[in-house]
Amino acid sequence: MFSSPYPDVDVPNLGIYDYLFGDLAEEDLDRVAVVDGASGAETTYRTLRGQIDALAGAVAAQGLGVHGVAAILCPNIPAFATVFHGLLRAGATVTTINSLYTAEDIANQLTDAGAGWLFTVSALLPAAREAAERTGIPAERLVVIDGADGHPSLADLLGAGAPAPQVSFDPATHVAVLPYSSGTTGRPKGVMLSHRNLVANVEQSRGMLDVGPEDRVLALLPFFHIYGLTVLLNIALRQRARLVTMPRFDLPEFLRIIQDHRCTYLFIAPPVAVALSKHPLVAEYDLSSVHTTLSGAAPLDGELGTRLAQRLGCRVLQGYGMTEMSPVSHLIPRDGVDVPVSSVGYTVPNMQCRLVDPATGEEIPVPAEGTSAPGHLLCRGPNVMLGYLNRPEETADTLDADGFLHTGDIATVRADGVVTIVDRLKELIKYKGYQIAPAELEALLLTHPGIADSAVIGALDADGQEVPMAFVVRQPGPDGAALDEDAVMAFVAAKVAPFKKVRRVEFIEAVPKSSSGKILRRMLKTTAPAAGAAK
Ligand code: AMP
Repeated sequence: MFSSPYPDVDVPNLGIYDYLFGDLAEEDLDRVAVVDGASGAETTYRTLRGQIDALAGAVAAQGLGVHGVAAILCPNIPAFATVFHGLLRAGATVTTINSLYTAEDIANQLTDAGAGWLFTVSALLPAAREAAERTGIPAERLVVIDGADGHPSLADLLGAGAPAPQVSFDPATHVAVLPYSSGTTGRPKGVMLSHRNLVANVEQSRGMLDVGPEDRVLALLPFFHIYGLTVLLNIALRQRARLVTMPRFDLPEFLRIIQDHRCTYLFIAPPVAVALSKHPLVAEYDLSSVHTTLSGAAPLDGELGTRLAQRLGCRVLQGYGMTEMSPVSHLIPRDGVDVPVSSVGYTVPNMQCRLVDPATGEEIPVPAEGTSAPGHLLCRGPNVMLGYLNRPEETADTLDADGFLHTGDIATVRADGVVTIVDRLKELIKYKGYQIAPAELEALLLTHPGIADSAVIGALDADGQEVPMAFVVRQPGPDGAALDEDAVMAFVAAKVAPFKKVRRVEFIEAVPKSSSGKILRRMLKTTAPAAGAAK
């Protein structure tokens, strides 16, 4: 077992609202909390807190409180911060939905989470409305932030004039957020993160990240994913920094926003690092304000990280985590020396880790010098989830009796505690940092009359980024014979959110399976060529 090299931090026994906004200092009230990167509209901490209180009052007046679940389906805009923290202020549990989801995906999450409210924007209303209708959320509980006929708008709620409610709950057990993750296997599950989990992860990470009030933090990472949620909506706001929101990635707009808003701190996923280190357009913008870039959500190649640092002339850090850990467990600290960018740095305070041999379960020791053998990374700490919603079996498979979370990732540890993620044991695929559950695509592929069997894995594209690759067994007969790669890709693309598209296809005779019927993904990985022309 090894622990964080940092001393433990105190985790205040507070709800996230009281922790973040309860002791806002006078001098911080007029600082800008959030800027809309596109329009430049600014919201100060004073206004943000006022809006949060007003929203909490409005929803509480309509009965939403500690027993309610509200969903947010919204790209990164300043109002997301108001809605998110307003709902938490009212004591509600917030389930954040990927804004790229199809109506069916949205409906599945609303149903599973038991959501009674949905907050969205007019641009996503068609899918949101279809999902709300399917799950019985009435029009008056489908809030369209920027307004739409027949639905309340955010302005309506903020103008209701209801006082913020007095709510009481136990921060250690009350579920604050319910993001969805497929974890180590199967389909997406609701990850129950308590107020204490969230507060702990801010306290555990903020010293190592060292975001300060003078920082202008680019808020590109989606707020609906736990990485954006914790790092931007919780840590950056706790540090009284300025968030600069961007609803979707578009390289020229991304570069313009960094330049015009003089962003200092970028939180990104590896595909953005590829664009930043390679694209000729980057040279046309003044990015000299950036002092730090932190990549997370998927592995960052060491050479890519180094190229990025040279090109931007900034510090490049890497972080590692998992939705189930709220999410940060490992970080390269901003003041770290001799910590390679290909590593994920040190374990954050208050956490203990173990590396175990995946075959035998035996503990792999931390060496006195050099680097350990690879092993399955297990982590324990106050940021580890309460469990998966309504799924005791999956919870027991992931959280062991000693409280260690089985990450499904393979890591090594250096004698001084620097951890490197070297492989992934679990079936999860990460495309541009987004989760894709192979089980979901496999089930969909099987609905095609020409497909007898299939297995989906993550394979690498020419840039070294992971893409979903389907191995397909043709059904004997004309339907199978007519099937080619493009037909398989088009079939999937028509039915799933764009990021879940299959981007490589290979036809095989049979899917390799164990005697118990489990797909032997490792065998397929070795047959997938390292870099292909992914579509
Ligand atoms: P999520 O729950 O969506 O945050 O996904 C968590 C998973 O993403 C981890 O278990 C890893 O497989 C992967 N991941 C996140 N950050 C990194 C990283 N820095 N290096 C390698 N894999 C990562």
